[in-house]
This record gives sequence, structure tokens and C-alpha cells, in this order.
Amino acid sequence: MAGFVDEHERTMAFAEIALGQIKSLRLTAVPRNYEIWYVYATGSNPALNKIVNEVLARQGKLTESDLDHIYQTYLSPTRTTDRIDKVGVRIIHEIDDVMNVITDALGLTTNFSNHLADANQRLTQAASREQIKSVIEMLVRSTHEMQQTNKSLESRLAASKQQINDLQHNLEAIRAETMTDPLTGLGNRKYFDRAVIETVKQAKQSGEPLSLLMFDIDHFKSFNDNYGHLTGDQVLRLVAMSLRQTIKGKDIIARYGGEEFAVVLPNTALRQALSVADNIRRAVMSKELKKKSTGEILGRVTISVGVSMLQPDDSTDSLIERADACLYAAKRSGRNRVICEADPEFSAEGRIQVA
Ligand code: GH3
Ligand code: MG
Ligand code: MG
Repeated sequence: MAGFVDEHERTMAFAEIALGQIKSLRLTAVPRNYEIWYVYATGSNPALNKIVNEVLARQGKLTESDLDHIYQTYLSPTRTTDRIDKVGVRIIHEIDDVMNVITDALGLTTNFSNHLADANQRLTQAASREQIKSVIEMLVRSTHEMQQTNKSLESRLAASKQQINDLQHNLEAIRAETMTDPLTGLGNRKYFDRAVIETVKQAKQSGEPLSLLMFDIDHFKSFNDNYGHLTGDQVLRLVAMSLRQTIKGKDIIARYGGEEFAVVLPNTALRQALSVADNIRRAVMSKELKKKSTGEILGRVTISVGVSMLQPDDSTDSLIERADACLYAAKRSGRNRVICEADPEFSAEGRIQVA
């Protein structure tokens, strides 16, 4: 019930901001505009906020066509598939065009070979200087033509290569977007699920150790309740930043769920993993939080971390389950702690769960 009340208050706060924007910019209060401003208020779609801020900075207002464009590009439910479809259509056109150019070029090459064969025959039969001269003139002409064709074919293919490169980048950007958590910019759950399967497979093949950290912000619900969800979102961004600063190289970091994060550490055994986990824990709690708008000091947040290390008979699921169970043990034994399977708190947890 408490959760429901919080959710209600949170939604109402966003709704108020959205309606305030619609009013102050004198926009029509149609659902599309409301949705744009609601998402803007949540900050969950940074690309949308960026474009809205840019347009406002440029022209001081948003026209209906700006709003239409923003909705289609950033909110329409079919957005990603639409964009993939559009890129797909452009790729097919490009391939069609290149195929036509190649077919034309092949025709010209056949013509040129015929001219050569013809010239060869005419030269063997040539009886006069005049006849030889005319064959050579014809050869020069068709060689020149062939050179021109090759040149335009080359530049057409270079342009096409550029086009295909651009389209490839478009596809990569779409793919990256579907794997990214918009709030923190970290990999999302989908990214994590794929990455963990891949790295576990590699670790099993190479025999190298692999560890997994799962962590969760302590008492985050009361933080949201005290300071509001938008401030809570800023904290999630801050935790993500601490993670990025602490984690390097091949390590994989992702937002696993609401206020839960996961880190996969390839080629890392338990002892090292525990030290990485503790560095993250310290980095997060070292930051004193301050509300930007008012300068109000909000205190600190802490995290609890569970650590598991890959065993020969592990699956990705069992590895995640054990890290999760350690995280649960860290919560139960007071929070702001790192717990692994070797810790007595974890076995105590195991007994409680079995009982
Ligand atoms: P514990 O120490 O046991 O983890 O307590 P907790 O309050 O952190 O745990 P609980 O699971 O009860 O609450 C998690 C809260 O995280 C609920 C929700 O308000 C908040 N949360 C989840 N996702 C988001 C988000 O995207 N933004 C914000 N601001 N809060 C979020
Ligand atoms: Mg929590
Ligand atoms: Mg949680």
C-alpha cells in the first residue's frame, strides 16, 4: 500500500511538471504533448530532453510540427523498428543501384572485348596504312570509353561504400540504444544477459576465473520518499558514475534493475573481486549528496554487495543466484557490506533459507 501511495505521489509530481510546461508554453493539452512533457519531467529519455532543450534554446518555443517530429522520433512505440525498417529499405536501394551499375559495367566490358576481337581480325586482314589507321583509331576510342566507364564506376562505388558505411553506423547506433539504460547510460538488463552468457562461456573455455558482483542501494525507497524521485534518479546517475570511475578494462557493468547493478569481472578470482567490490562500496559512500537546485545536503547513500565466483559446474543462472543470495545476506547482516560465499553470514543465510 505504501508503495502504491509513493508511486501515486511520484506520478502526480511528474504530471504537475508536465501540465506546468504545457501551460507556460501555451501548448494544446492533447495526450501527445502531455506524454512528451511527462517523459521530459521523468528524465528517463535523455535524447528527448536534449532535443527539447535545443529547440527551446534556439527558438524559445515548440511548434506543433516540432512536437510531432519529437514524438515520432523519440516516443512513438514503433520507433526502433521503424528506424530499422527505414535503414533496411535504404540498404536494399543501395544494393539495387550498385547491382545496376555493375550490370551496365559488365555490358560495356563485353562490348570492349568484342571490339578488341574485331580489331584483331581486321588488323590481320588489313592491307593498307589507311585500314590500319582506322582500326587503331577505333581501338583508341573504345579504350577511352572504357577508361571513362571505369572512372565513373569507381566513383559510384566509392560513394556507395560511404553510404553503406553510414547505414552500418546507423544500425550500430540503433543496436547500442536498445542495449543502453537511458537514465544512467550503462548497459541495460538485455546487455547484461547477453554479456554474462558470453563471458561465462569464454571463462569456461579458457579456464580463467570469473567473478560476479551484484549490488543494490540501501534504503533507497526512503531516500525517494524523503527527497523525491527526481533526486533519486540523480543518485542512480551518481552511482553509475562511481561505477564507471572504479571499473576499467574488460569488466562489464550494467543496470540490472531499478536500483540494482551488476558487474562481471572476467579473469578475476574471488579475492580480487572482493577488493573491487569494496572499492565500489567506498566510492559510493564517499560522495556527499547535495541537491543542485537548493544546495540542501542530502547525506550519503550506501550499497550492499554480493560476490560469487564461477565454479566448474555453474550455469550463468546459478552464478547470478549465488551473487544474489550473498547480496541478500549483506542486507540481512546490516547493509553497507560486501559478502561472498566464503563468509559465515552467507552460510547462516543458507541455513535460514533451507529451514
Ligand atoms: P534495501 O536496503 O532493502 O534495498 O531497501 P530499499 O528501500 O532500497 O529497497 P526496496 O526494494 O524496498 O526499494 C527499492 C526502491 O528503489 C523502490 C523505488 O522507489 C526505487 N527505484 C527503483 N527504480 C528507480 C528509478 O528508476 N528511479 C528512482 N528514483 N527510484 C527507483
Ligand atoms: Mg535497495
Ligand atoms: Mg532492490
